[in-house]
Amino acid sequence: MDGIFDARCVACGQWGTVACDRCVHQWTAEPRHTATAWGVPLVALGDYRGGLRSAILAAKHRGAHAIIRRLGTPLRSAIRPLGDAVVIPMPSSRSGFRARGYGLSVLMARATGMPIADCLVMDDAGSQRGRHRDERRVRTMHLAARRPAVGTRVVIVDDVVTTGASVDAAIAACCECGLRVVGVVVLASARYSPAPVRAGRLPPS
Ligand SMILES: [Zn+2]
Repeated sequence: MDGIFDARCVACGQWGTVACDRCVHQWTAEPRHTATAWGVPLVALGDYRGGLRSAILAAKHRGAHAIIRRLGTPLRSAIRPLGDAVVIPMPSSRSGFRARGYGLSVLMARATGMPIADCLVMDDAGSQRGRHRDERRVRTMHLAARRPAVGTRVVIVDDVVTTGASVDAAIAACCECGLRVVGVVVLASARYSPAPVRAGRLPPS
């Protein structure tokens, strides 16, 4: 199926694959290492621009499986240094993804080859209609009852980090349940600069 609709590189147009080796290498050659507001290591495969941005948009709207598969190797390289951990995908906020039954972050989690716990749940913040950018909303999340045991090392994966609000909420939800968040891995960062830690919120355990 992958070859039928998206048989050209989304960036350079080369036939034969949704993302050619040369482009994938170019997008991911210099992963961005930073940290969240809580000081949790955050790795982005690249910046949210150019070909990587095109690939992520194509993944969202067209062939998610094929594109994420092409990014699987750099994803695994980014996540491996974080050590043994259970991968927790960021919940998808887009109704289209929910309707199709998957989100990019779930596919990313699978691509890592590590154990997965798809247990993050976004609290209902009312209708999403009319919202322009997901991360402008203040979101809270919680963990489903079926989740890793207290003390488990976990890595959170998401497609794009912008303000970091979602990442912060996910880390807080994990910490509330006693999980040890050892890292966050995203495909791309878009002008990410973590907000200062606000008083009264949970630090990472
Ligand atoms: Zn290409």
